[in-house]
Amino acid sequence: MSKARLARVVEAIAAADLAYLLVTGLLNLRYLTGFTGTSGLALIGADERHFVTDFRYVEQAAEQVGDGWQHHVASEELLDVVPGLVDRGRDCRLGFDDAQVSVKTHARLRELLGEDGPELVRAGGLLEAERAVKDAGERERIAAAAALGDEAFAAILEQGLVGCSERQLAWALEDELRKRGAQPAFDTIVAAGAHGALPHAEPRDVEIPPQTLVIIDWGALLDGYCSDCTRTLATGRVDSEQQEVYELVRAAQQAASDAIAAGRGGRELDGVARERIEGAGHGEHFGHGLGHGVGLEIHEAPRLSKRSEDTLVAGNVVTVEPGVYLPGRFGVRIEDLVVVTTNGSDVLSQTPKDLTTVG
Ligand code: ZN
Ligand code: ZN
Repeated sequence: MSKARLARVVEAIAAADLAYLLVTGLLNLRYLTGFTGTSGLALIGADERHFVTDFRYVEQAAEQVGDGWQHHVASEELLDVVPGLVDRGRDCRLGFDDAQVSVKTHARLRELLGEDGPELVRAGGLLEAERAVKDAGERERIAAAAALGDEAFAAILEQGLVGCSERQLAWALEDELRKRGAQPAFDTIVAAGAHGALPHAEPRDVEIPPQTLVIIDWGALLDGYCSDCTRTLATGRVDSEQQEVYELVRAAQQAASDAIAAGRGGRELDGVARERIEGAGHGEHFGHGLGHGVGLEIHEAPRLSKRSEDTLVAGNVVTVEPGVYLPGRFGVRIEDLVVVTTNGSDVLSQTPKDLTTVG
C-alpha cells in the first residue's frame, strides 16, 4: 500500500487528537493495508501499525499487507487482540469508525478495554475523507472499470433490446461484465417506458417494447474499484416530448459536467443542472442529487446535491447524473463518471450520449 496514503492517515489521526485508530470496515482495511480478505482489523498509532487476522488469512495477510505492519493472529475474536496492543490509560483516545462498528462490537470493546481503559472516540469519516481523493493508481483502476463497462454495454447493444425482458437484458449486461473479468458493481437497472420513471427501478420479466425509452444503469467492479454509468436509449421512434426531455437532460448533464473542477461546490454543481431542468418546467421531476463519489464503494464522498456541503478537490471521482422522471409515463437519466482535475475534469465514460436508437 502506498506510503503516502498511510502517512496522510497518520496525520489525520494526529489532527483528530487520537492515540490510535481502530479500523474494522473491510473496505477501509483494504484501502489502508491492501488486504482483500474478509476477516481483519488494523490498529494505527503515530508510529505503530498492527494488523490482526485469524488463522485462515495468515498467508494472504503476509502477502498483501506490506512492510511496517506487525502481524497478529487472533485465536478467537479479532477484537480480543486489541487490549494487548494499546496503552490502557484512561487518557488514551482510541478512535473507531462509528459508521462501521455495531453497538454490540462497541460494548465488547468497552468490556475488553475495561471501564477505566482508553476513551473510545467516534472517528467515522476519517478514512472516507481520505478515500474521496484518489491517487494515480486508483484513478487508473476506476478508468479501467469504466472502459470495461463501456465495452460490455456496446456488446449488448449489438444483441438488440426489443423482445428481450428487462431482466434478461440486465443479466446479459452483467454477463458481458463477467466475461471481461469484472463483476457488476451493483444490481443493473433496466427500465423501459413508464417503469423508467422510477429512478431505482428493478428489472422486471416484462418484454421491452419498440418505440420506447429504456434507462440502463450499470457499473463494473474491477480490481476492487467501481464504475457507474447510465444511458437512456430509444427502441424506435419516440414522440417529440420524449425527444425534448432527452435533449433537456443531455444539455443539463453536459452543462454540469463542463462546470466540474476543483474548488466548485457540490451544491453549486447540482444547481447548474437543476436550473436548466427547472427552467424547462421539470424541476419537480428531478428528484435526486446530481451525483456521488465512486471508488471502492459505488456511493461514497463527495456528494453533489442540493444539501451537499462538499467542495470538490483534484482527485475526486464523481458521477454527473441528472434525470427527469414523469410518473406513469417515462424517464430519462444520463450519467457519466468524471475525474476532477485542478482546472476541469476528465470524463471516463466513453459511451456516446446522443439519443441512440436500438431495435
Ligand atoms: Zn448509476
Ligand atoms: Zn450513480
